[in-house]
Amino acid sequence: MSVDDGTRDETVDVLVVGAGAAGLCAATWAGRTAAAAGRRLSVVAVDSARKLGAKILVAGGGRCNVTHWQVTEADYAGSTPASIRKVLRRFGVAETVRFFADAGVELKREDTGKLFPVSDSARTVLDALVREAGRAGAALVHPAKVLTVARTAAGFVAETAAGRFVARRVILCTGGKSLPKSGSDGSGFALAAGLGHTLAEPIVPALVPLVLPPGHWITSLAGLTLPTEVRLAGGNGRSLATVTGSTLCTHVGLSGPAILDVSRHWLVARHADPAVRLALNWLPGTTLEELDRRLVEAAGRGALAVLREQLADRLARMLCELAGAPATGDLPRDARRRLASLVTSTPLEIVGDRGFAAAEATAGGVPLAEVRLETMESRVCPGLFLAGEVLDVDGRIGGFNFQWAWASGFVAGSAAATAALQTPTDTDAGRAAGRTSTS
Ligand SMILES: Cc1cc2nc3c(=O)[nH]c(=O)nc-3n(C[C@H](O)[C@H](O)[C@H](O)COP(=O)(O)OP(=O)(O)OC[C@H]3O[C@@H](n4cnc5c(N)ncnc54)[C@H](O)[C@@H]3O)c2cc1C
Repeated sequence: MSVDDGTRDETVDVLVVGAGAAGLCAATWAGRTAAAAGRRLSVVAVDSARKLGAKILVAGGGRCNVTHWQVTEADYAGSTPASIRKVLRRFGVAETVRFFADAGVELKREDTGKLFPVSDSARTVLDALVREAGRAGAALVHPAKVLTVARTAAGFVAETAAGRFVARRVILCTGGKSLPKSGSDGSGFALAAGLGHTLAEPIVPALVPLVLPPGHWITSLAGLTLPTEVRLAGGNGRSLATVTGSTLCTHVGLSGPAILDVSRHWLVARHADPAVRLALNWLPGTTLEELDRRLVEAAGRGALAVLREQLADRLARMLCELAGAPATGDLPRDARRRLASLVTSTPLEIVGDRGFAAAEATAGGVPLAEVRLETMESRVCPGLFLAGEVLDVDGRIGGFNFQWAWASGFVAGSAAATAALQTPTDTDAGRAAGRTSTS
């Protein structure tokens, strides 16, 4: 790793822009691909961050949820499932597990299906990625924000805060906009657009907590976590998405896996149809009619007693009160129907989200339709490769976003190196002349 003084003027074979999860992976596989061919390429990964890998370090609450035991295209949104599948299958969970094991990081599977390092420390994951990139011969240069990337007849010229890089191939791994203080500030989208790409809109936070109106009754339940089913419907009532999982009530709204997973669907759908609606079932798997029947059968025991079998006391009381249903004693039919409806379908008047600073991923970006899936090379700008969250692919909670970074980083890094090896490289010429490679 080198910290830079701003005066570089280098020619490299492969320039990786962004040394996060996808970029470190791409740099490693670019170097390994050259080595496997008995050649050497100058591979340089530049990153704007002073400290590399901030996002890896905070991932999974500091434990880094590296992947999931089972990953399919159904775990993602954005570009088409078929295109996502094509990339995922090139570097699956088994390859991820082997890559990290070879790098000295054993992974363990938890009950949720998520895979974490046995060390329970994200630091071991970041250290391994940096070490493997170095072992593969890639140089890491930072802080060096890439300001522009221009296409030239021979390749690319990248102007950075640390100087100029002339590169035969560029791999864009700048991430999205989530956690901008980590360095992923969305500037990669402008670089991609400057090289001719379109961006799938809207570009909105994904895996982000949602906000309710100030003083909403749910905010008084802050700290409560419980299993739920969250449903998203269009203004016409058509079901758009259903997510089952736990929900956390917060002092400003809602969070937890089910809410985080549905958040990108709500934000993207609302962009097209402001009338979209979210509703929450506090008893997942129970329909209005089933709950109504249970309330009838339990006549005499009182509504509160029935709800408390599955719900926290303060939530059960709140629901009875809001539905105008007596907590104890007889339950008139109208009140019973109102209560059953509220419990199984509480309308959520979402007024916003916590923004990119609180989001774990980004929805939107460069559509996969604009890259060749077998190489991740741009269809609109040959010689440019893309990987990671800069692409229009975002996964649900559980290690899926990193798996996308590893898979797309592998494909882009290997293919960019293969392409660079097809022409005599500066490094080859330098070796022939007895010159050593770049730092
Ligand atoms: C709090 C949090 C927790 C998360 N936990 C998990 C988890 O446990 N499991 C999981 O699968 N996913 C998790 N994610 C999501 C995951 O971190 C991302 O999907 C993944 O890091 C994306 O990889 P990437 O390499 O594409 O982008 P990033 O990791 O964002 O890396 C992009 C890099 O590019 C650099 N960069 C950006 N623009 C420029 C520029 N112009 N010039 C130079 N460098 C630039 C940035 O500094 C950054 O280092 C989490 C995200 C957050 C925010």
